Amino acid sequence: MGRAFSRAALSRSGRRRYNFPMSDCIFCKIAGGEIPAQKVYEDGEMLAFRDISPVAPAHCLLIPKKHIKSLLELEAEDAPLAGRLLHRAQEVARELGCGESGARFVINAGTDGGQTVGHLHIHILGGRALAWPPG
Ligand code: 5GP
Ligand code: ZN
Repeated sequence: MGRAFSRAALSRSGRRRYNFPMSDCIFCKIAGGEIPAQKVYEDGEMLAFRDISPVAPAHCLLIPKKHIKSLLELEAEDAPLAGRLLHRAQEVARELGCGESGARFVINAGTDGGQTVGHLHIHILGGRALAWPPG
């Protein structure tokens, strides 16, 4: 096994730096109605809403209402929820009009992955041809 975390993701004490606390979690606040969002889908366990800074004509975020910090923190017991999220992600993409033209589903995880909000989310992007690879 290689290093579990890059040097950049570790603080001096060796603990993971991206230890996002739940108490100031923006996405928990959106799920709880404390912060408004343009919702496109909601049920008892998940929520999809428009990204506040869209990088494509269609750009939504799909989150579980349960606070899971990152895909890197996903527990085995959450695997069925993760499966339902993935299935819902393609339905949201269809709702956004990307069923035929295609979409990109992105999960940034941890520091090197570019995660900035510490609550698991799937970006659903479409409405234009997207470049690859990412920077
Ligand atoms: P990450 O960089 O963690 O993969 O993605 C976080 C995303 O959340 C970014 O695309 C950012 O624009 C979006 N975002 C951050 N704060 C808010 C907010 O308060 N409301 C909404 N709708 N999106 C947000
Ligand atoms: Zn949260």
